[in-house]
Amino acid sequence: MGPKTAQRLALHMLSASQENAVALADAIVHVKERIHNCPVCFNFTDTDLCSICADSHRDESLLCVVSDTRDLLAMERAAGFHGHYHVLQGLISPMDGIGPDSLRIAELLDRVRGGKIAEVILATNPTVEGDATATYIAGLLKPLGITVSRIALGLPVGGDLDYADDVTIARSLEGRREM
Ligand SMILES: [Zn+2]
Repeated sequence: MGPKTAQRLALHMLSASQENAVALADAIVHVKERIHNCPVCFNFTDTDLCSICADSHRDESLLCVVSDTRDLLAMERAAGFHGHYHVLQGLISPMDGIGPDSLRIAELLDRVRGGKIAEVILATNPTVEGDATATYIAGLLKPLGITVSRIALGLPVGGDLDYADDVTIARSLEGRREM
C-alpha cells in the first residue's frame, strides 16, 4: 500500500461511523487468517479451492501461467480467458536470490503431467525476469508434448500486466506465439 492509499484509508476511517470503522479494522486484521493459497493454482482464496479452480465450466485444457495474483486478476478482467491459471508466486531473479526452486514450478509440472492440459500460455511480464522465467519453464514443458505459448503482441517491453489496458491484454493473449 502506498502513502496515498494509506492516507485515503485513514481519512475514510476518521469520517466513518464508529461501527463501520471497527468492522473495517476487523476485516483487515482477519484477512491474514482467512486468506490462503489455493492448493491447485496458488491463487489467493478464502475457500478450499479458489473460485476459478472450482468452476467446472472453465476449459481444463488451457492453463495460463502468471507470476502473481495481481496479474491473474488483470488477465481475468481483460482477456475473456476461460481456461485455468497457475500462479508462480514470483519470477526467477538471481540478483534477488530467487531461483526456480523458490517458485511453484514443480507444482506446475505436476499439473501438466496430470494429462488434461493441452496448452500452457506463459503470461509473465515482458521484463528480463519475466522472459527468463518463461524461457526456463518452456524448456521444462516442451518435452512433455504439449503446446507452449507466450503472450507478446502489444505489451510494452519492460511493462507490467497489471498496468496494461484491457484491450492490450486481450490482444496479447490472442496474439500469443508458440515457443
Ligand atoms: Zn485455484
